[in-house]
Amino acid sequence: MNAFEWTDASSVDQAVNQLGNGTVLKAGGVDLLDLLKERLIEPKRLVNLRTVPGLDHIQDDEQSGLKIGPLVTLAELDSNRVIRKRYTALADAAGNAATPQIRNMATIGGNLVQRPRCWYFRNEQFHCKKKGGELCYAQHGENQYHAIFDNDPCAIVHPSATATALVAYGAKLELLSAKGKREVAAEEFFVLPSVDVHRENQLGADEMITEIRIPAPAAGMRAAYTKQGEKESQDWPIAEIVVLIEPDGDRCKRASIVLGAAAPVPHRAKEAEAALQGKRIDERLARDAAHAAMATAYPLEHNEYKIPLFEVLIRRTILAAAGQPGGGA
Ligand SMILES: Cc1cc2nc3c(=O)[nH]c(=O)nc-3n(C[C@H](O)[C@H](O)[C@H](O)COP(=O)(O)OP(=O)(O)OC[C@H]3O[C@@H](n4cnc5c(N)ncnc54)[C@H](O)[C@@H]3O)c2cc1C
Repeated sequence: MNAFEWTDASSVDQAVNQLGNGTVLKAGGVDLLDLLKERLIEPKRLVNLRTVPGLDHIQDDEQSGLKIGPLVTLAELDSNRVIRKRYTALADAAGNAATPQIRNMATIGGNLVQRPRCWYFRNEQFHCKKKGGELCYAQHGENQYHAIFDNDPCAIVHPSATATALVAYGAKLELLSAKGKREVAAEEFFVLPSVDVHRENQLGADEMITEIRIPAPAAGMRAAYTKQGEKESQDWPIAEIVVLIEPDGDRCKRASIVLGAAAPVPHRAKEAEAALQGKRIDERLARDAAHAAMATAYPLEHNEYKIPLFEVLIRRTILAAAGQPGGGA
């Protein structure tokens, strides 16, 4: 690990004004410390955000929706009464990530910006495409945990559980730099490797996330979240699904279905959403929608198992969101 300067920021402006020139933000530090130890970053200065007051707010309004500060921890998202009731899939995504200890430290801002867990990317012995090299070692190597969609030119899966939920809820992120603020839809914030293989999002080196905004859920909206890991705890998922259903009587007016651990960005399953639209949800329709979601998957040598896994879990998550039998995990 290289030597670096350390600043305890006392305000958002003080933090933002130091960005650029090799300065990196530290929130909970869970991923940042790994990146330093793995020599994936060698910053000149760390700016500690945890000393900045006012970045850990949770405010909900019936009409305008939810505002979350970037320092809100995953544990708080999981336990907050309003989030659990009105934005259940976000609470479940946060509450199923990692371990209780990590969830107490990890913040939503850091969770969204954490780097991928691809073992080739994380290993300093492999100079992969993401690090400026010529090859994606995962494409012809040990790719059992890698992407089944959009896996060229790099086969990472996006590591953030909260990102999957935020894309499903149509969230927006407020980004601040010394030049001003901008608001970006969560769905557009994340960047595919085919657009830029060196980054996972469009955050500038001089920007920070200052707020996450989720529109108020439509009347009667129902949500379900499923995480499948190899282990019950202390691990990232091998498949993750968020389903939101906006009902119209006994039919589905609109569905939002987003997959985690499937692609380098949270993957919207548009074919499955279209299959449910305007229909009465039952076991057969959920099965057809899940099948449609996997129609364009393009597995690698060792991750074909993800296709039947996702099909079963998408079907169950749709049924759970629709309050139908067969929706259990
Ligand atoms: C064993 C283990 C299992 C895990 N399992 C899961 C899982 O199942 N699901 C999951 O989602 N995650 C999982 N994680 C990852 C963990 O949740 C993240 O590392 C954590 O959320 C990062 O948050 P942090 O606050 O510690 O960020 P930090 O480590 O402090 O920062 C991470 C990155 O975000 C940047 N950053 C932080 N805050 C901001 C901001 N406001 N604006 C702009 N940039 C910012 C930092 O500069 C840094 O680049 C796991 C981690 C471990 C160790």
